[in-house]
Amino acid sequence: MKIIILGPPGSGKGTRAHIISEIFDLPVITTGDMLRGAIREKTEYGLEAKTYMDLGDLVPDDIVNGIVKERMSRPDVVKGFILDGYPRSVNQADALDEILKAKGIKLTHVLSVVLSDEEIIERLSKRRSCPVCNEIYHLVSKPPKKKGVCDKCGAKLILREDDKEDVIRHRLQVYRETTQPLLERYEKQGLIVETDGEVPIEGLRDHLKELLG
Ligand code: ADP
Ligand code: ZN
Repeated sequence: MKIIILGPPGSGKGTRAHIISEIFDLPVITTGDMLRGAIREKTEYGLEAKTYMDLGDLVPDDIVNGIVKERMSRPDVVKGFILDGYPRSVNQADALDEILKAKGIKLTHVLSVVLSDEEIIERLSKRRSCPVCNEIYHLVSKPPKKKGVCDKCGAKLILREDDKEDVIRHRLQVYRETTQPLLERYEKQGLIVETDGEVPIEGLRDHLKELLG
């Protein structure tokens, strides 16, 4: 399976990517996590990316296309992959087409996560993230066992700079303008499979198995 997960910020792309990866034993390629990793390591492109991410803007296509191309050159993607958070613009979708064409690979599914703006803002403003292992929590629906501390690695949890309400609104606008048009492109290719962003986490595994299995 060669899957793209498309959806607004905070709609549960990452959660779905993780579960699908477990069910079908596929690598997940998460551009947001790769960019945050580059920021932590203070690489040149990481520092450039940070200025965009903190404002809720997309990182320039050249940077993101470069890291995805590099990642897609590794042998583990041959059996399949899940792209989480990429492509996010027409330019990126074109770049991905090129990468796949060169490898003789075809996409099999574009999983489209559907969720209202109100629910997105509610989720993201109460989201807390582990800056070390990337685990995600929610103050109400998935609190950490110990307040403010990551269950998995013990690091102090943070509210991401781009999960502040005014930045969330901007990210939503960027999504609607720049990313959402890709749905039509993949619809024409017959690849779209819709998943309701409100499916409760306990039921997600069965839901995704049924959708994709
Ligand atoms: P979310 O899906 O909740 O928006 P991500 O971690 O996927 O969170 O993305 C956070 C930020 O990382 C985005 O707002 C953007 O600045 C940057 N980013 C991630 N993926 C891409 C991409 N494919 N193209 C450009 N910027 C990206
Ligand atoms: Zn952690």
